[in-house]
Amino acid sequence: MPKDPPYSLIVVGAGAAGCFAALEASRDSEGAVLLVDAGARPLNKVRISGGGRCNVTHACFAPRDLTENYPRGGRELRGPFHKFQPRDTITWFASRGVELKAEPDGRMFPTTDTSQTIIDCFLQNLENQKVPLHLRQRIRSLQRDVDGFFILERDQEAPLKTKHCLLAPGSLASSPLRDSLKTLGHTLTETVPSLFTFRIDDPELHALAGVSVSEATVAVPGFARKQSGPVLITHWGLSGPAVLKMSAWAARYLHGKDYHFICTVRWIPDNPEDIRQKLQEQRKNHPRRRVQADCPFALPRRLWEYLCRRANLEDCPWSQLPAKSAKQLITDLSGQPFSVKGKSTFKEEFVTCGGVNLREVDFRTMESRRCQNLFFAGECLDIDGVTGGFNFQAAWTTGYLAGQTLRTRLEREAVDLRE
Ligand SMILES: Cc1cc2nc3c(=O)[nH]c(=O)nc-3n(C[C@H](O)[C@H](O)[C@H](O)COP(=O)(O)OP(=O)(O)OC[C@H]3O[C@@H](n4cnc5c(N)ncnc54)[C@H](O)[C@@H]3O)c2cc1C
Repeated sequence: MPKDPPYSLIVVGAGAAGCFAALEASRDSEGAVLLVDAGARPLNKVRISGGGRCNVTHACFAPRDLTENYPRGGRELRGPFHKFQPRDTITWFASRGVELKAEPDGRMFPTTDTSQTIIDCFLQNLENQKVPLHLRQRIRSLQRDVDGFFILERDQEAPLKTKHCLLAPGSLASSPLRDSLKTLGHTLTETVPSLFTFRIDDPELHALAGVSVSEATVAVPGFARKQSGPVLITHWGLSGPAVLKMSAWAARYLHGKDYHFICTVRWIPDNPEDIRQKLQEQRKNHPRRRVQADCPFALPRRLWEYLCRRANLEDCPWSQLPAKSAKQLITDLSGQPFSVKGKSTFKEEFVTCGGVNLREVDFRTMESRRCQNLFFAGECLDIDGVTGGFNFQAAWTTGYLAGQTLRTRLEREAVDLRE
């Protein structure tokens, strides 16, 4: 049985969403909020995020445009982004002494370029607002007692009791809380990886490791949505923003294929007819030049040489370009097929899609529609964004909404108690 008196609010998970929500909820009610985390250190993912620099958010300020970056949850986040969006994130951190800067691609980082700045900001403000943070407290299960209080079972110690509970435990993929959530009436959508790179067993491709193409388009035949942007060739296959975005949008589809599928890469924006004409012009204007040494497209030299080798054009001058080779070049430039044989985790960013079914959450408050006084924030929800700071923004926004609702509720209950 719980030994401690009941808390007003326990926040489970001292990650991005939990810390943010705990700060918002506790603004007017000192001592009413307890933050617990299973780990020995809080904010572990913030620490390693963005290559140690923490890509806090993205310089995208129109809610509708923002939602385009969420393969799951975009529709549900539209309303919340009208209440708390990247502009608010910038102001929130600035008012706590942390300035953010935008990079040319829109990603925003602390000006100090270290995630420790974000961690220090949270820890300092939790201390200022007297929110106790209890570490090494893994919550094993969550139940309701007959009086409507939540009982949180811990691994080693006596259970905790609370009137309100905010769950922010991150990915639910292997969470001990899955069964409790189902018992409380929730359904969980399947959790599968999102944001990964494509493994392709092709030594010739691996030899191009480091080559990057800025305006490529990645497609997966059978999956409607294509993704454009930079593609990076690595020593295991393909990576870069376009590949990561594709992995996120097609996360469930590719999981269903056990990560064995064909993907195509269009290396240049030109359509096949434009390419054909350009090859003709080269044949006419530069008949004596070697094809392999004379790339007419905006492509890295090593990639062009590789494409020429695939088309058997090593020593061929433009004047003798065989029709078969021209056809091969056109096909490869406008959609080279690759056989993907698995995924590799992107070294910097990795999230899980799936979690608490979004239909079962009220996105005005982040309260469960199945269980009163239970709230959610962050990655435990079936929300995930593409790379670029969108995942943290979802954590801040959902943490903000849950925190605001709880703040009002704790305040109201404190008044009721006093009266
Ligand atoms: C390597 C890496 C780099 C990333 N970089 C970026 C980036 O730069 N920008 C970006 O937007 N996103 C990034 N992400 C994604 C981002 O980290 C997540 O979207 C975000 O951390 C989710 O926040 P959260 O608070 O929901 O979950 P988490 O940050 O995972 O926090 C959950 C917390 O809950 C605790 N917990 C879990 N279960 C229990 C339990 N049963 N009892 C008690 N405590 C529990 C955990 O210990 C953890 O501290 C990155 C992810 C990875 C893995």
